[in-house]
Amino acid sequence: PYSGPSLDEIFKKRKEFLSPSMFYFYKKPINVVHGKMQYLFDESGRRYLDAFGGIATVNCGHCHPDVVEAIVNQTKSLQHSTILYFNHAIADFAEALASKLPGNLKVVFFTNSGTEANELAMMMARLYTGCHDIISLRNAYHGNAAGTMGATAQSNWKFNVIQSGVHHALNPDPYRGVFGSDGKQYAKDVQDLIHFSTSGRVAAFMSEAIQGVGGIIELAPGYLSSAYSIIRDAGGLCIADEVQAGFARTGSHFWGFEGHGVVPDIVTMAKGIGNGIPLGAVVTTPEIAEVLTRRSYFNTFGGNPVCTAAGHAVLRVIEKEKLQENAHVVGSYLKERLISLKNKHEIIGDVRGRGLMLGVELVTDRKLKTPAKVEILLVMERMKDMGVLVGKGGFFGNVFRITPPLCFTKEDADFFVDVMDHAMSKI
Ligand code: PMP
Repeated sequence: PYSGPSLDEIFKKRKEFLSPSMFYFYKKPINVVHGKMQYLFDESGRRYLDAFGGIATVNCGHCHPDVVEAIVNQTKSLQHSTILYFNHAIADFAEALASKLPGNLKVVFFTNSGTEANELAMMMARLYTGCHDIISLRNAYHGNAAGTMGATAQSNWKFNVIQSGVHHALNPDPYRGVFGSDGKQYAKDVQDLIHFSTSGRVAAFMSEAIQGVGGIIELAPGYLSSAYSIIRDAGGLCIADEVQAGFARTGSHFWGFEGHGVVPDIVTMAKGIGNGIPLGAVVTTPEIAEVLTRRSYFNTFGGNPVCTAAGHAVLRVIEKEKLQENAHVVGSYLKERLISLKNKHEIIGDVRGRGLMLGVELVTDRKLKTPAKVEILLVMERMKDMGVLVGKGGFFGNVFRITPPLCFTKEDADFFVDVMDHAMSKI
């Protein structure tokens, strides 16, 4: 039984001692005290089905015993910085991670977060090409430091401070975009940006394979391969941000970019890499990696023994428990059930995504696609009352983000859809 401070006491401390920028879900937030696989438990012992572990991308499940064991064992023998001395954990994990990537993508630099990984990727591309201009997509989320906030392209997440050298291309959004699902048409905007906003040469193009924070937007088919070839013609590198779509989440592939038939020059990752442990990585080719030797460059905790031991355990669990296959099978089943739900509830404008990275967009008018910003909150509260936690995102905040731990079962999927159905029937 839980004997810690009550929700009200935590509330008081947060108000006084934590940054007012910290936001939370639900009118009455949940005090989560324990997690086990796809479940979270509050202080009264009440169980919730967690369909949004993707916020930290707990791919293996909360407190997965193998990952916990790896963390505990490594903590008992050593936790330290990775600079100055040798330790096997970082080298073993780098080797295992590189084996999951195609082509010559085999040199790893570890960070502590997705923002750090993307900052580093952007800098490496700039150093390698000698150019400054980077193109990212409107509606993207890539982080919140100086460079990455520039690459992030939603006003909700941008402060009015200098963010130089990033241009935002038309988002190849099949639901709201002007060219529908015609990926090649959208890619022409990348060419236009190069012609009219840059010197004609660029450092990089950066994008997610499926936009997460942006509301589970799958890039229109054919877009990524066209954009990559346009960028490469302008001397730029292609950066794949796999912070959300990577690590087996899309089911059909281990990496999101593989679903688009492209091979990037730099891949960034975080979240799912550590099953909730702070860890990020940039993986690139030996030639590009070489740029960092021009100066001294280090990251005190990037790739530390405890985090890399956890990351290595995550790869083993994904393999052992066939989580990629599960994401594909359960994700496809869940998507089908959500599509049937769309036939029943007028408020559902779109169902999309791949594997266990799914989105349900709510609109008050299907033709006008008016975002159902208020209604989504009501449905979300009702679902919580029935024991199901789901995420929310998109520029208008009207898209359910369904990114559960990859151990989610068909029974969980059924329960999830039944609860969503019931909650929608009541509004
Ligand atoms: N890239 C993507 C696609 C993300 O979703 C996020 C976080 N939501 C980031 C980068 C930044 O990661 P972090 O919060 O670990 O800095």
